Amino acid sequence: MIEQFFKPDSVEQALELKRRYQDDAVWFGGGSKLNATPTRTTRRIAISLQELELEWTDWDNGALRIGAMTRLQTLRDSHYIPAALHDALGFVYSRHLRNQSTLGGEIAARQEESVIVPVLLALDAQLICGDGEILPLEAYLANPGDRLLTEIVIKEPFRPCATRKISRSQAGLTVVTAAVAITEHDGIRIALDGVADKPLRLRDVETQKLEGSALEQAVADAIFPQEDIRGSVAYKRYITGIVVASLYADCQQMGEEVV
Ligand SMILES: Cc1cc2nc3c(=O)[nH]c(=O)nc-3n(C[C@H](O)[C@H](O)[C@H](O)COP(=O)(O)OP(=O)(O)OC[C@H]3O[C@@H](n4cnc5c(N)ncnc54)[C@H](O)[C@@H]3O)c2cc1C
Repeated sequence: MIEQFFKPDSVEQALELKRRYQDDAVWFGGGSKLNATPTRTTRRIAISLQELELEWTDWDNGALRIGAMTRLQTLRDSHYIPAALHDALGFVYSRHLRNQSTLGGEIAARQEESVIVPVLLALDAQLICGDGEILPLEAYLANPGDRLLTEIVIKEPFRPCATRKISRSQAGLTVVTAAVAITEHDGIRIALDGVADKPLRLRDVETQKLEGSALEQAVADAIFPQEDIRGSVAYKRYITGIVVASLYADCQQMGEEVV
């Protein structure tokens, strides 16, 4: 249970508090996860990020920069964000939750369902940390540590990109969330959540440059989902293949429209 709540007004102060209290302390973004059952934190000390002035979006030489404390709804309402990111933010089904949750918290929470992470992976998002470290989102997910996330950077925000969430209802459990993008040099990105214990990129499939039913099959063969209340292994493989191939076709069409 949280017993002490610090509100530092600089990143340096926040890092100093974390150094002092170590595993007793937790970064506090929007608090939606830290305050809710059953994900309520057991740590004693909260270091609030509210006063760190990390709630903004900005453009820098064509790159989209997003402060880690930007609320999901605020970001969704921003002009000129990539359409796929706008769609993914809407996958968090409750507006109330989108008003409370922050993009940094959504990434750092590493929850079972990460509906926004696939699109960020497909867009090759980079993270900037409080100590100045810059790392790809994929590297962070593999080894998050106790880093303080301050900024999310998307260098190529308008590459053709599309995302879809498969669930039986808007608020129902998610079977899979997929995102696909085509990079400037005709590379493809395929990112998934829901078919492994954490979000993943299908790098082997990406390099094969497939489409249509060949892509469907390659995706189905590349994943190893668990059977659960959401569906059987065969169903998850089948639907993921279909969704990825369909998203890739959408991206190809977007690319043609730009030309
Ligand atoms: C009722 C309910 C329904 C939900 N439904 C969905 C849903 O449909 N889809 C979905 O994706 N999620 C859902 N979630 C999860 C929730 O939206 C995310 O966990 C949320 O985005 C976390 O954001 P936050 O800013 O509130 O994080 P917090 O609760 O403040 O923190 C979450 C974790 O992230 C860490 N953290 C926060 N900010 C940072 C930072 N800048 N740097 C480093 N670490 C940080 C905290 O230390 C903590 O470990 C739901 C949660 C609840 C309570």
